[in-house]
Amino acid sequence: MAAPGPLSLNTITVKSLTLSQAAEACARHGIPAICPWRDVVQAAGLANAVRAIRDAGLAVSGLCRGGMFPASDAAGRAAAIEENRRAIAEAHALGAACLVMVVGGLPAGSRDLPGARKMVRDGIAAILEDARAAGVVLALEPLHPMTCADRSVLSTVDQALDLCDEFGDGTGVAIDCYHVWWDPALDKAISRAGQRVKAFHICDWLVPTADLVFDRGMPGDGVIDIAGIWAKLQAAGYAGAVECEILSNRWWKEDPGHVLRVVCERYASVF
Ligand code: ZN
Repeated sequence: MAAPGPLSLNTITVKSLTLSQAAEACARHGIPAICPWRDVVQAAGLANAVRAIRDAGLAVSGLCRGGMFPASDAAGRAAAIEENRRAIAEAHALGAACLVMVVGGLPAGSRDLPGARKMVRDGIAAILEDARAAGVVLALEPLHPMTCADRSVLSTVDQALDLCDEFGDGTGVAIDCYHVWWDPALDKAISRAGQRVKAFHICDWLVPTADLVFDRGMPGDGVIDIAGIWAKLQAAGYAGAVECEILSNRWWKEDPGHVLRVVCERYASVF
């Protein structure tokens, strides 16, 4: 197997750091790319964020995140679309390889899953021209079905690709191994995706998992065949970054410098 793509740090992995601290830490640890979250960018100020990332010499593998389209009423859906337009502008300013899209779950109190999926489809349709004009790819990230109610009615790579088929230019998929490793159709879906894969997020599935959101494992500590998924992505033509994204109550307690040392060690050992 050829070497994995360049390592990128998703800033949630070291969420106690400011953006400039995270960017400097990447440079210090030899991590060539970063994927910031919008709240971290906004805390720094967009212009400062652009400068900090440029000064550290980092590529931007993505911006986390757009999406969250479903809402109980038209005003809520319109507000979500406006928020996504701001996210597109930020991704453009940062030179991000994509805007990662976590599409949203059911509106509060709703049992209408097909309706929520239609709100997602309509939301993407509403912002697509803005994304294309800005040269920002919307990377649709399927999330594990355990999050279907509250965070993502988009659960599989094939579902995301159905939307990409419909919308074409300006759309792609983000493959987060934590969310899709269980899917029996994953290999075929990666082949189907081909060059439309725009991001690859890694972490591991721990057994047992103590929290459905905040107990992601360090690569190598769980049961996901990360190297196997990488091999499939590579065969499909993906040549982008390998982004380490760990939401973990355990790792957030550790010193960020230690976390980044372990991230680099695992990046070197799991592939
Ligand atoms: Zn992810």
